[in-house]
Amino acid sequence: MPASDKALVFDIKRFAVHDGDGIRTTVFFKGCPLHCIWCQNPEGIRADRQVMYLKTRCIHCKTCENKAFGHQLTWVRDDPELNHKYYGTFDNLVKACPSGAIQYDSTAMTMEEILERIRDDKVFYRDNGGVTFSGGEPLQQGEFLIELLKRCKEEGIHTAIETSLCAPTELVMEAAPYLDQIFADMKFYNPQDHQKYTGADNRIIRYNIKMLLESEAKNRVTIRTPLIPTITALETNIRAIASYISSINPDVTYELLNYNDLAGAKYPMVGMTFGMPDNTRRFKAHEMKKYYKAAMDGGVRNLITETQVKGGK
Ligand code: SF4
Repeated sequence: MPASDKALVFDIKRFAVHDGDGIRTTVFFKGCPLHCIWCQNPEGIRADRQVMYLKTRCIHCKTCENKAFGHQLTWVRDDPELNHKYYGTFDNLVKACPSGAIQYDSTAMTMEEILERIRDDKVFYRDNGGVTFSGGEPLQQGEFLIELLKRCKEEGIHTAIETSLCAPTELVMEAAPYLDQIFADMKFYNPQDHQKYTGADNRIIRYNIKMLLESEAKNRVTIRTPLIPTITALETNIRAIASYISSINPDVTYELLNYNDLAGAKYPMVGMTFGMPDNTRRFKAHEMKKYYKAAMDGGVRNLITETQVKGGK
């Protein structure tokens, strides 16, 4: 099947230093099969384009109120409240808003348009930088992604992916030869916990991890667990994940990502509710130690600790 002509991209971040080796351009693809309650990129979850309201840009001119059709918005105190259930486009409001406070969260881009953006940054990549594909779940637009990866490799560009691995195994294995770094999440060992907190069970993820860690790509893979307080950040969970991945490849690289306590700020922009309590905080350095110990007790020899961290979706 041919790849789609365009991919829906919700952000392109330049000069990223936490998404793989060196200085990178990170391309964020829309759409994710998981709905993790702590998701840092809620605008990346839905596969379709959504409208956003950026309160800090609003100059309260009420142009949008005058231009709105039907049930597109209601005016609440000093702000427009967009109706995210409205069945239709918001082109009229995006066009009318003079300050960019109302805008779409993503753009449909051709392969050439994305490549142009990557090429613009090539001078900064030097020896080990490059492009990272993130999301959302980049493999959700997998055929397009694989073609794009091939083009990047033809142009000598270092490539990385940040993936949930909740994707068909054929796609994962087809993409792997064109990837220099693969950052793959394993959030839970237990399928029921995975289902409860992400909306999907993890059998395909566990299988894809096994396939990757047994493949010729195994030395390019880093398995990651985001430490979500009281949810994934349990020593039993970390030990079980560590034991699973190290039983497949004793030299596997494993990374524990500290909680991002700024993630909740994006949710109101896209009309969503953050699933974590407001007072949830990152772990302090001394609190991380018990999780490192659990990982090593589970058999991991190559553990990336916070002071060594190079990545973080
Ligand atoms: S048109 Fe834009 S700037 Fe004016 S009130 Fe509406 S959102 Fe705010």
